[in-house]
Amino acid sequence: MEFIYEICHWCRCGGTNIVCGLVDEEGNIVAQRKYPTDAHEGPQSILAKISMTIEQLIEETGIPGEQCIAVGMGIPGLVDPVLGFSMRAVNLNWRDIPVAAGLSKLIGKPVYIDNDVRMYVYGEAVAGAGRGYDYVYGVTIGTGLASAFVQHGSLHHGHRYMSGEIGHVPVEHVDFPCNCGRIGCLETIVSATGIAKQARVRIAKGEASLLTEWYPIRQIYRQARCQKPAMPVMH
Ligand SMILES: [Zn+2]
Repeated sequence: MEFIYEICHWCRCGGTNIVCGLVDEEGNIVAQRKYPTDAHEGPQSILAKISMTIEQLIEETGIPGEQCIAVGMGIPGLVDPVLGFSMRAVNLNWRDIPVAAGLSKLIGKPVYIDNDVRMYVYGEAVAGAGRGYDYVYGVTIGTGLASAFVQHGSLHHGHRYMSGEIGHVPVEHVDFPCNCGRIGCLETIVSATGIAKQARVRIAKGEASLLTEWYPIRQIYRQARCQKPAMPVMH
């Protein structure tokens, strides 16, 4: 197997799963692997596993190590991409962890980290749906709600790296508590967990529903698509 392009590693370290891969300079994924995060093992163990996985992928694909030039890594929560620190990642229980330096020491390559949503939108802007556009804005709706903005190929970070944090915009007449400690944030009603929570609350109050006891977001969405809305939480 011959690779004519330089190869980068990418890694998405989430609270549930870690996805590592190799990508060429055209944005093609050459190899990838997904495994559970095991957040309770702590940052040192997680970084050691990522380093080991990258080495395994290089070995399996037969790519010469020197063609792998850098590592990019997306982490949920507040990230300082300049200093390479994870400032706060609630799902990983990380606070002020020098991720870039720690992983770089293990793997012997430069490591660039940023918030996972920013990395995702940047990826779409340079190699995906936003390729060729001057302005790209992306929103992720999952456990929470977040967004990012890419302008002429550059990520917008904003004051204290808070750009795109739309999940915690306050909404009138909403009184669900948010993980951030405040009440009535946008993500408490429009995220996947927010929609499922609303369904649970309304059924508990006795509202009629086709939903069964367990309310995963896929079931709510499927019923809404079949024009048999479970209840008016999904419009
Ligand atoms: Zn909030």
